[in-house]
Amino acid sequence: MQSGKVCDLIRFHRGTFAGNLKVNMKSKGTTLSECFYLTYQFVSINFNYLTSPITPRAINGFGEYTMSKKISNLTRRNFLKVTGLTGVGAIATQFDQLARASEEFQTMPTRVFGNSGIKVPILSFGGSLNTSMSPLLLKQAARWGVTYWDTANSYMGGNSERGIGKYFTKFPEDRKKIFLVTKSHAWTRRGMTRDLNNSLARMKTDYIDLFFVHSVSDISELDEDTRVWAEKRKSEGKIRLFGFSTHSNMTSCLLGASKLGWIDGIMMTYNYRLMHTDTMKRAVDACIKAGIGLTAMKTQGGGQVKTNTETEFELAGRFIKKGYTDAQAKLKAVWENPDIASICSEMPNMTILKANVAAAMNKTKLSTRDLNLLNQYAKETHSDYCAGCTEICESAVNGQVPIGDVMRCLMYYRSYGDRSLAMALFNDIPEKVRATIASLDYSLAEKRCPQKMEIGKLMRDAFKELSQKR
Ligand code: SF4
Repeated sequence: MQSGKVCDLIRFHRGTFAGNLKVNMKSKGTTLSECFYLTYQFVSINFNYLTSPITPRAINGFGEYTMSKKISNLTRRNFLKVTGLTGVGAIATQFDQLARASEEFQTMPTRVFGNSGIKVPILSFGGSLNTSMSPLLLKQAARWGVTYWDTANSYMGGNSERGIGKYFTKFPEDRKKIFLVTKSHAWTRRGMTRDLNNSLARMKTDYIDLFFVHSVSDISELDEDTRVWAEKRKSEGKIRLFGFSTHSNMTSCLLGASKLGWIDGIMMTYNYRLMHTDTMKRAVDACIKAGIGLTAMKTQGGGQVKTNTETEFELAGRFIKKGYTDAQAKLKAVWENPDIASICSEMPNMTILKANVAAAMNKTKLSTRDLNLLNQYAKETHSDYCAGCTEICESAVNGQVPIGDVMRCLMYYRSYGDRSLAMALFNDIPEKVRATIASLDYSLAEKRCPQKMEIGKLMRDAFKELSQKR
């Protein structure tokens, strides 16, 4: 670790993580080339989580794992071959450029959100975190033009909304700059009214810019009652726009919404794995024609996916040569579709916020070859990514197990490293249902699954890894 540039790089990704990195490298007697490789790994880890909820413990945990595992010569050789980088200086230069770019932010690009005429930044602050602990993060997000904030009444037991309320109490002049979104899980008009009023009170505001029904998986969940409720709240000035979020059966939800005529906005799982299918393209087209604003989430395409595959390393190396990471490339792949108004990304610390803003500001386009490589990677890892088409697999087990929800729990645990969130969500599944998860026959579901996932094994894994005694 003699190189000043590498030390600068580590300082750029400063704090505890960097400290741990240096200590671990020294204690393991790592060679300079391994330091270089591990530095790449470390930086890549940070960027690989650009759009994921992540805790310091998760990063540290992953870092420890990286330090202690045997590095395959093949992998290291491939990395060096693909990047064409032969010294620490080269990689440091790439990240120096990124750091400089991030310090020279000009204007955050904006896009018009559906028929509303409202311009929103292409990067939105995902608030599934305790924002009470992060007033500086919110302030910096606002300064850098990340003025679309997404939360939900359920996030962090309400502390996400409370933190935003504290922020608006301290900086009331910022309220009008923020496009504020929150969500309700309620199934009834009375429940939605209760949740909306709670959200307004917690966030110390008189209105919500966009109010979502949370996690819709079938458009029939939104009925005439919902429409009447939304129109009434709009006329009262409590909400400006209305819509829903969806992680399951996104294409049918989008197509259904396009026919309703009263949906203003949708936030859906959308990424380089899903965006090129004919059904998704048709669904997005239909929404755009219907004037519905679209926000993408889960843009990293992490399912309960394999990581550290050779193709992934090749991809990462290729993008680093161009001055950005594979994770930033995945954001760019989504931004290249002008129909997507914004990407909602979890940004729990300044490093991730800064890197995501840098990606939004960076004007380099992905080449056709880049996009083809991402497609190839998606195809190679298809059986490790749950595409959320739960109407297919859950009907094969007569709806006895919410397979999509369990897959999402595995994603939070295995891809995001957030075991407590994964366990909390898993244990929210009714006990009777959980009791059947490990023993059910999933062979028909596996036969129908377009991603060819090993559903039975994954359900048993989830049961073993995420069950907890209350
Ligand atoms: S397990 Fe397969 S069928 Fe079920 S939601 Fe995931 S990808 Fe779709």
